[in-house]
Amino acid sequence: PYDVLVVGGGPAGAAAAIYAARKGIRTGVVAERFGGQVMDTVGIENFISVNYTEGPKLVASLEQHVKEYDVDVVVNQRAQKLRKDKLIEIDLESGATLKSKAVILATGARWREMNVPGEQEYRGKGVAYCPHCDGPLFKGKRVAVIGGGNSGIEAAIDLAGIVEHVTVLEFSDTLRADAVLQKKASSMKNITIIKMAQTTQVRGDGKKVIGLTYKDRERNELFDLDVAGIFVQIGLVPNTEWLKGDMELTRFGEIEVNSQGETSIPGVFAAGDVTNVPYKQIIIAMGSGAASALGAFDYLIRSSVE
Ligand code: FAD
Repeated sequence: PYDVLVVGGGPAGAAAAIYAARKGIRTGVVAERFGGQVMDTVGIENFISVNYTEGPKLVASLEQHVKEYDVDVVVNQRAQKLRKDKLIEIDLESGATLKSKAVILATGARWREMNVPGEQEYRGKGVAYCPHCDGPLFKGKRVAVIGGGNSGIEAAIDLAGIVEHVTVLEFSDTLRADAVLQKKASSMKNITIIKMAQTTQVRGDGKKVIGLTYKDRERNELFDLDVAGIFVQIGLVPNTEWLKGDMELTRFGEIEVNSQGETSIPGVFAAGDVTNVPYKQIIIAMGSGAASALGAFDYLIRSSVE
């Protein structure tokens, strides 16, 4: 068996694997796709100490760094079940089972998409999911935020300080965001909120976003909105479907962890976007990956499992 098996090969999983391997213990990584969400990212400007990089480039150096160590990396494999007997067992969809004394879950999350024409085509060309990452790219421009929950209204307030104007489109007739956020947003002159608005299309010029079309659900009429950026804020879904029933998850489906990355199951740790740690960012995922590996090491030196 492994001493530490990391499930997930994004920034959290890569950091966890490097920290574990540096302790000289048997370390494995199993991932569906090495690199995770970073593989889908174009420009990265907030990975501290690196002014600018691009997703695939950062993933290549992550992979190279992991390969510097004696880590068993298994890709194109999906975990589908976690069991704990004496050892922790991870069943893969391929039918194989991996066993380990400690496991670090770093399966990340995915942004909920609008599923409208143009969204995929213009992803990274105006369609964005992370205001902390991409907000500054729209300095002085007009943007839209899709979704009037906490993340949507927070994004609108954040972006309003950078861009010329923000239009929030909310599907229902009420905003779900906290009252203080709603109050703050309505006090800002360059934020407009439109309710009962269903985005039906992302419009572009072939190279980048030029606007969107939405349906006014009350009047059943279509309207065009000219914007350079569209921030989709309709939810971040943790990749924990396969863990339901096996461990404690928050009502959002996130794995609950403490500061060492410990979960409700002894020997099972978690890190990165899959957890309830706030602020889903590369540098934060890496930090929590490192912490969870050190937490797992502390667990192993106290445990009697051979
Ligand atoms: P992920 O990156 O999601 O990795 C999850 C890993 O788990 C993957 O290897 C995946 O294949 C694997 N996996 C999932 N389920 C299973 C399973 N059942 N079995 C096996 N493996 C599984 N952050 C920034 O800091 N700066 C940015 O500029 C930035 N831009 C972004 C742009 C986009 C378009 C997106 C989507 C995100 C962006 N982020 C950015 C956020 C950042 O990418 C995430 O916070 C970070 O990748 C989280 O790392 P993670 O390792 O926790 O999870």
